[in-house]
Amino acid sequence: MAKITEERVLEALRRVRDPERGKDLVSLGMIGGLAIKDGNVGFSVEVDAARGAGAEPLRKAAEQAVFALDGVTSVTAVLTAHRKAGPAPGGVGPNGGGPDRDGPDRDGPGGSGPGANAPAAGQGPAPRGPGADRIGSIVAIASGKGGVGKSTTAANLALALMAEGARTGLLDADIYGPSMPRMMGVRGKPTTADGKVLDPMMGHGVKLMSMGFLVDEETPMIWRGPMVMSALQQLLHDVAWGPLDVLVVDMPPGTGDAQLTLAQTARLSGAIIVSTPQDIALLDARKGLNMFRKVDVPVLGIVENMSYFQCPHCGERSEVFSHGGARREAERLGVPFLGEIPLDIAIRETSDGGRPIVAAEPDGAHAAAYREIAAQVLDRLDAGAAAAKPAPKIVIR
Ligand code: ADP
Repeated sequence: MAKITEERVLEALRRVRDPERGKDLVSLGMIGGLAIKDGNVGFSVEVDAARGAGAEPLRKAAEQAVFALDGVTSVTAVLTAHRKAGPAPGGVGPNGGGPDRDGPDRDGPGGSGPGANAPAAGQGPAPRGPGADRIGSIVAIASGKGGVGKSTTAANLALALMAEGARTGLLDADIYGPSMPRMMGVRGKPTTADGKVLDPMMGHGVKLMSMGFLVDEETPMIWRGPMVMSALQQLLHDVAWGPLDVLVVDMPPGTGDAQLTLAQTARLSGAIIVSTPQDIALLDARKGLNMFRKVDVPVLGIVENMSYFQCPHCGERSEVFSHGGARREAERLGVPFLGEIPLDIAIRETSDGGRPIVAAEPDGAHAAAYREIAAQVLDRLDAGAAAAKPAPKIVIR
């Protein structure tokens, strides 16, 4: 099989013409963030923000042209809204603009820096679509590393927020391994009513969007800095989220590019760190904490997941991972401790089966624990909105 090289990909893209501008995509400098790994190719197609979803056929044509190459097994092309100088309509929150503050540590997967033309975190306002304008608060669920139950917590917390009366959305920003379609038991492709923004899917009453709906589950996804940013911007801004009280964002694990992009451009109202009690996990959790502090996103608190094991047969409680580590650490760091969720097979089975425990057993003890956390989150968001910082704009139509 022929080896896929940058030259071959660009050659294929040179054959794709932008009908609006009358030249090919490469000559027009519209291709960014080209990444090749074995037969998997990813790149972004940079278009003027005004063209919006109208550029979709162009994206598709580019994807098909590359896919036709011998040796290519998958192609992911993402539209990037090209920014013009000057403030974007709607603006971004206090965290969005301005030069990059502290030199982000780019240790995320595939974290090569942004390309020359790509929108970079912290370099001025992000492109805005109508999607995120009608969201009261955006809350990131983060963890220092994978496998601590971040997605499980995000799904259950979203359901618990809804149970507490908040209109809730759930954005699966874990584009490296989107798990929300499976966890929330939702299948299919999102549709668009106006050809511009995607309508979110619905899962147990929560509005839901995930890269998993847009890309074939079997397609290995490779992302580089600029593509991550563009994909996340689209999931946030080109989806008809509103009106929502809270949008829960399931972040990719770790503290790399994607997290920074979101933290800096998504006007996050706050972040929640999920951690297991092991010390090592806590060290990672601290990294997450510091990252949000760096970009001035308030950390609403720490949730200790898999806190202790409750035997489903005898009810005995075992402290598998030196229970209480997260609470102690939260105290030490001066961050609120939001609560603890036990290690329980019912939590795994329900979320792995598409009906997280808060939906499956709304009157059970686990649902109560998640609701207790949700209530605290809503309180802290209210307190944050009332504080001196400019509150996110809520538009009620
Ligand atoms: P992450 O998003 O941090 O990678 P996940 O939420 O995907 O982690 O969880 C990893 C695995 O652990 C999943 O199979 C999930 O069902 C399971 N899990 C998460 N939290 C719990 C819990 N409290 N009790 C039992 N299993 C859990």
